[in-house]
Amino acid sequence: RELIVAIDGPSGAGKSTLSKSLAKELGYHNIDTGAMYRSVAFAAKRQGIDPADESALGRLAETVRIEFIRQGEGERVLLDGVDVSSAIRTPDISLLTSRISAYAGVRHAMVELQRKLGAQGGVVLEGRDIGTVVFPQADVKFFLSASTTERGRRRYEELRAKGLAVELEQTVAEVEARDAADCARECAPLVQAEDALVIDSTAMSIDEVFRTMLQEVRR
Ligand code: C5P
Repeated sequence: RELIVAIDGPSGAGKSTLSKSLAKELGYHNIDTGAMYRSVAFAAKRQGIDPADESALGRLAETVRIEFIRQGEGERVLLDGVDVSSAIRTPDISLLTSRISAYAGVRHAMVELQRKLGAQGGVVLEGRDIGTVVFPQADVKFFLSASTTERGRRRYEELRAKGLAVELEQTVAEVEARDAADCARECAPLVQAEDALVIDSTAMSIDEVFRTMLQEVRR
């Protein structure tokens, strides 16, 4: 049987790298739910929607078309047919995403879509609320964490590798700001499912985490 694997945790904990490699190893689809919220933020910015206009953003989330397509090694995100995979990763879109993902209407639309995409199984979903809200019945649940400094450092390396001129101190500060925004809100606090396997990767290599996760899935 094809499983539903849930991976939750704060940004920079290694979720995207690990869910990608896990999905690849298992021959599953990888669903990056952060990319879905980011796409809504990107669409909002492009259309000039006021970030405070909750109902307009809820309507937008209901109407945008978000798809994942496999391309070579990776998966691309299409927003209304256009590849936005890179455009949704900028720091300003990250902050806007944090803000608009607090709106119940936006979350409702995304959760619906995530359930539709994952219902058949054979998926690794990564996000903040997969094991608690989207698929409480997921077959395997992980909660990845790491210290704020370490997560900031990883994000910094990632952005640098993409050729972006960022500063370490500023990147750590952005990770902290986003944590605060994500954790302060009531609609989707970053909570750990009781039955999730918690992995603190601060002092672990990606490979060690990967092997731990694979072992758990195959158990
Ligand atoms: O994982 P990523 O950093 O791409 O997520 C971007 C933002 O989307 C997060 O900071 C969070 O505000 C929001 N998000 C969410 N629920 C999810 C995934 C992401 O609220 N399941």
